[in-house]
Amino acid sequence: MTVTEENITNEEKRSLSFVEQIVEQDLAEGKNGGRIQTRFPPEPNGYLHIGHAKAIAIDFGVARKYGGVCNLRMDDTNPQKEDTEYVEAIKKDIEWLGFKWNNIYYASDYFQQLWDLAVELIKEGKAYVDEQTSEEIRQQKGTPTQPGIESPYRNRPVEESLALFEEMNSGRMEPGKMVLRAKIDMANPNMHFRDPIMYRVLNMPHWRTGNKWNAYPMYDYTHGQCDYWEGVTHSLCTLEFVSHRPLYDLFVDWAKQAAHDDQPLDDNRPRQTEFNKLNLTHILLSKRNLLILVKEGIVNGWDDPRMPTICGFRRRGYSPEGILSFIDKIGYTKFDALNQMSLFESAVRDDLNKRALRVSAVINPVKLVITNFPEGKTEVYTAINNPENEADGTHEIEFSRELWIEREDFMEDAPKKFLRLGPGKQVRLKNSYIIQCPENIEDCVVKNEDGEIVEIHAELIPETKTGEANCNMKIKGKTIHWVSCNHCLEAEVRNYDRLWMVENPRDAVAAYSEEHDGVRGIEAMRPFLNPNSLEIKKAYVEKWLETRKPMDYLQFQRVGYYNVDPDSTPSHLVFNRTVQLTDTWKKMSGK
Ligand code: ATP
Ligand code: MG
Repeated sequence: MTVTEENITNEEKRSLSFVEQIVEQDLAEGKNGGRIQTRFPPEPNGYLHIGHAKAIAIDFGVARKYGGVCNLRMDDTNPQKEDTEYVEAIKKDIEWLGFKWNNIYYASDYFQQLWDLAVELIKEGKAYVDEQTSEEIRQQKGTPTQPGIESPYRNRPVEESLALFEEMNSGRMEPGKMVLRAKIDMANPNMHFRDPIMYRVLNMPHWRTGNKWNAYPMYDYTHGQCDYWEGVTHSLCTLEFVSHRPLYDLFVDWAKQAAHDDQPLDDNRPRQTEFNKLNLTHILLSKRNLLILVKEGIVNGWDDPRMPTICGFRRRGYSPEGILSFIDKIGYTKFDALNQMSLFESAVRDDLNKRALRVSAVINPVKLVITNFPEGKTEVYTAINNPENEADGTHEIEFSRELWIEREDFMEDAPKKFLRLGPGKQVRLKNSYIIQCPENIEDCVVKNEDGEIVEIHAELIPETKTGEANCNMKIKGKTIHWVSCNHCLEAEVRNYDRLWMVENPRDAVAAYSEEHDGVRGIEAMRPFLNPNSLEIKKAYVEKWLETRKPMDYLQFQRVGYYNVDPDSTPSHLVFNRTVQLTDTWKKMSGK
């Protein structure tokens, strides 16, 4: 499909991201013959995180919207850190988010082509082997305002470089002894042009190419050519690559010239466009940092529900639609920003409101005895699964004389404004009767030796259930939830709090490191980690929950959104708290 200026409505135009505007401009100018091709290029050195979801949404989204294709390209040029476990996890996460790649490619597919191109560039005098140490090369780089110093090996004969380049890949060359550099301009104000490194010696096998290579190409020498060879039209990436773009373009030009391709370059070069990274308060992204949390046992693996990984978010109970709706809300800009976690939570709450099944669970239980309801008798009610979606149907809940209710729903000396239970107070039990506690505190509660309330007494007011004579009786009190003691199940509830106590962990960790002799890794992180990020509770839940499957979205009414953890079994139910019902919490405290 070709989108032209004429067939875009004003409404659509207004809501276009700047990336989409660029794509539409290129289409309007007839670039690439109206073809759109993007790629998502993760390095398989860890699991994808919420930041990647933003890149995925635009890479796949643009292709989908303009009838193009998006390929998945594993950026596997660094065999030291990469693993097939990560490749499989990346594929699973992209599919879960609802996207499908056209083809899957690997940067390692191009190792031979990249090598041949490098040989050609050496022959053309555009690259040379440098035998200096990395420290020497670093010292010669100069600063953005001061030119660098040319390497003494810069003008060595082509034959020498060719022979040494072969040596670099022989397996006999010690890593660090020499590198292949592009011969560009040591005085260029763009530091990336100061003879960037194209190849380094690693002497290690690659999980895809085996022992074939010992010297491996660098990211900057790889990415642009892969895009170009694959026919990528729009190469979308994050803002830190802005300063790399001229080098990206130069290597594409060199690849094109080496192939004696005389077509005008501007017409069909991959166009790199940069957008802002996703950055959220109270979380730390970057696979390198997340790996530290996993390795140090701060969390229970990459899919721990406290992790900002896609698999962690999935296990926590956020839906792909909820995550994508948040990404849509924050949009794509040219400026780095820190988005509030509350904005994310509000987006996922809106989404869960539409899909979560409403159930009853009592997290901090105390017993309530309905003294005028016969022992041994059971009533069965029909509960609506989801008021937002009739198609979700109904289920049955049982009512009996002894119930569990939340301890917070009763107060011994309740003030007038407290609209839940206390001596003389009335509330409605969700789906059931209106009840009233005795006026006299002695008749109202039973306490244990420690003075703790172990039982609350109340009477039901007859015919106050839905459809009965007194069902419309007006009371001041609220509706509270409950489960029947004889018809409920015990469950493990995992309540998560934020992992990081500071709003901007990245800055906090960096500042701490600076103040403490450059300590790194977990030592610099520990002071900011929340020691109470996981609270495990025993709860009573209604029996119907036995039938729910791992990953089902639930709302524990008045408590929060929860989901069924994959650890859950019918004999040991486990639920994760996805997100709290903020508004209900305000109501619950009676304020
Ligand atoms: P990390 O530092 O977490 O490993 P990365 O940028 O090294 O991230 P890659 O696997 O190289 O991760 O990235 C794949 C794609 O995802 C790139 O195009 C990158 O720009 C994008 N990306 C990574 N982090 C974010 C983020 N926070 N927001 C948006 N896009 C991101
Ligand atoms: Mg990376």
